[in-house]
Amino acid sequence: MKKRFETNAIRTQLKRTEHLEHSVPLYLTSSFVFEDAEDMRASFAEEKERNIYSRYSNPNSSEFIEKVCQMEGAEAGFAFASGMAAVFSTLASLLDSGDHMISARNIFGSTHSLLNNFFPKWNINHSCFKIEDLDTIEALITPKTKLIYAETPTNPGVDVLDLEALGKITKKHKLILVIDNCFASPYLQQPIKFGADLVIHSGTKLMDGQGRVLAGITVGTTELIDKVYRFSRITGPALSPFNAWVLSKSLETLAIRVDRHCENALKLANYLERHKEVNWVKYPFLKSHPKYEVAKKQMKAGGCVVAFEVKGGLQAGQKFFDAIKLLSLSANLGDSRSIVTHPASTTHSKLSKEERVETGITDGMVRVSVGLEHIDDIIEDVGQALK
Ligand SMILES: *Cc1c(COP(=O)(O)O)cnc(C)c1O
Repeated sequence: MKKRFETNAIRTQLKRTEHLEHSVPLYLTSSFVFEDAEDMRASFAEEKERNIYSRYSNPNSSEFIEKVCQMEGAEAGFAFASGMAAVFSTLASLLDSGDHMISARNIFGSTHSLLNNFFPKWNINHSCFKIEDLDTIEALITPKTKLIYAETPTNPGVDVLDLEALGKITKKHKLILVIDNCFASPYLQQPIKFGADLVIHSGTKLMDGQGRVLAGITVGTTELIDKVYRFSRITGPALSPFNAWVLSKSLETLAIRVDRHCENALKLANYLERHKEVNWVKYPFLKSHPKYEVAKKQMKAGGCVVAFEVKGGLQAGQKFFDAIKLLSLSANLGDSRSIVTHPASTTHSKLSKEERVETGITDGMVRVSVGLEHIDDIIEDVGQALK
């Protein structure tokens, strides 16, 4: 019988041990033992599927991967120690020296830095497309182009990219489509349905949802994940069993948490849109969002992040932050605690002013990751700080 999202998130679990535990135990072990010489030989020859060493696989990681595969509609996956380990290992395993990739201009800061400051030294180069105009992508394709990389919604601007359109372009040119789905979570959006080959998550965000662990995961086709696995089992970015166990438990409540995150975020976005000290508000499920129709097509709800601009630029922005009392000033997102960030002076301060403007980050822009506190308390704090 085919089960629904919430049921799979809870009922997908490892086989019980002889103790018949209800909740899955933690397998804190670096290695696994063999029955005899033949078992050892066959295991290393990959004639059987079993755990050998936790850098390759571990029961807790496998359970976490299985859950995310079900949620994303993927065949296989690999779990990493952080979201960036997932981004780096996935791209490094697929791209050879001389290869070219195409990326959205608006991507996570560290990913942007990876493509600009590190990949070129291995002769892996990229071109950027403007997210407002997906029609410009085809002109960037060269005989060396292997993949297209994008995020939606984007960090920190909460822009939305049409996944179906990206899927069509990649299929037409036989490229690999890699989507960072971290801002949406697998509950709100499944990029594989629209043509993605690989989906990446930072598990640090909504998946854990309580600001405790760093994690990353890549899921997709068996063929591509096999490449990611071969590279990663040698280079060693594996997720720890403890963090995998925490995440697998977190996924049991993903749907119910994300529902509330989205409900709170939409209420805050509506409040901010009517506020006289605010220039503009961006949230995928606000009718005023330039890609509202696309967001409705590919997402179940708008996500936990709201971006807005305080009137009065940098100074007003900083005054706003100093007046915040309840919300946390922090760089994370997708936490049960609401978080406010000022991208221009923090996460994106290393970009030049031109680069910031190009990616939609203005001086007075504020990013709120709306948490699970009572919405009236969140609105009260933001309201008094805007005053
Ligand atoms: C946080 C984040 C990452 C990186 O994840 P870490 O777990 O911090 O390494 C990648 N992509 C997006 C969109 C993110 O928000």
